[in-house]
Amino acid sequence: MNKTAPRKPQHINDLPDQAISARGLDKVYRGDGGGQVHALRGIDLDIPRGGIFGLLGPNGAGKSTFINILAGLVVKSSGTASIWGLDIDREPRHARAAIGVVPQELNLDAFFSPYEMLEVQAGFYGVPPSERRTMEILDRVGLADKAQAYSRSLSGGMRRRLLVAKALVHNPPVLILDEPTAGVDIELRRSLWEFVKELNTNGTTVVLTTHYLEEAEELCDRIAIINRGQVIACDDTRALVARLDKKELRITVTEPLTALPGGLSRFTVELPDDQNLVFRYRTGETEIRDILAAISDAGLRIADLSTEEPDLEDVFLELTREASGDV
Ligand code: ADP
Ligand code: MG
Repeated sequence: MNKTAPRKPQHINDLPDQAISARGLDKVYRGDGGGQVHALRGIDLDIPRGGIFGLLGPNGAGKSTFINILAGLVVKSSGTASIWGLDIDREPRHARAAIGVVPQELNLDAFFSPYEMLEVQAGFYGVPPSERRTMEILDRVGLADKAQAYSRSLSGGMRRRLLVAKALVHNPPVLILDEPTAGVDIELRRSLWEFVKELNTNGTTVVLTTHYLEEAEELCDRIAIINRGQVIACDDTRALVARLDKKELRITVTEPLTALPGGLSRFTVELPDDQNLVFRYRTGETEIRDILAAISDAGLRIADLSTEEPDLEDVFLELTREASGDV
């Protein structure tokens, strides 16, 4: 087991820019029957220090595989990764001491009390008894009054919080939560979000995986979208959401068209059939009235008109469709 506390930076300049960095990370699971699953296909990813980073993707995208490679629970097939500037192959113990991972599954040893569980975990990480903050951590996750309870008597939400506490015993600079709110009721979700924000405010870099767009959007300052083992987008949340600033205007004209009138070629426009024109534009760049004026200048008459605004869900679907080459 890991006996090494995270290497303390000697001075401020020792802090890495990237909390986590991966290059060409690849994973092929080989089944007993000879079948194989190519779970990660060359993941290149930088997760900056200091923020809340979201790894967003549908089930089966490879999120847990990525996390579990960092945690040392899954052996990668190829590629490199470092945590807090420490290569997971060259300095595995230091690298792993720099992260705390809250796993997706709620597996806890039912016979230990929360207090004992944290003490044992601190022992694994070589945290000396004088430096342990067991009650303080239990208090922070709202389990101080359950310190001596049997873990099997805890509710699902309490177990989730206990796993968070467990991941924090060695005071890691990076906390990774794998689907922290999957199957969790709305109230607990809110309280977990607040807790994550508070940890981050106090200096912990947080990485969370989720398949809830809304969660990523609310919590994360930067988001990578992962699909079928590949990173298909990685951007600041605001920039990603700005892709929402994409509107669609469908105009049905009264007379059939044989070709796109020249005056309309400056717009992004398609002719799905001879009586419809579909314009795609950003509100910041194009105004509806410019399009309507160009239509009128081209001598066309409008029979019908409708607009559509995609939401993050649409952007996500569009990106995942593009990535699968299915456009
Ligand atoms: P996510 O966490 O995004 O839902 P996972 O990393 O769990 O995705 O899974 C990625 C792919 O790898 C899926 O196709 C999954 O079935 C497969 N997979 C995950 N773990 C194993 C394993 N231990 N053995 C074989 N295949 C696996
Ligand atoms: Mg998962």
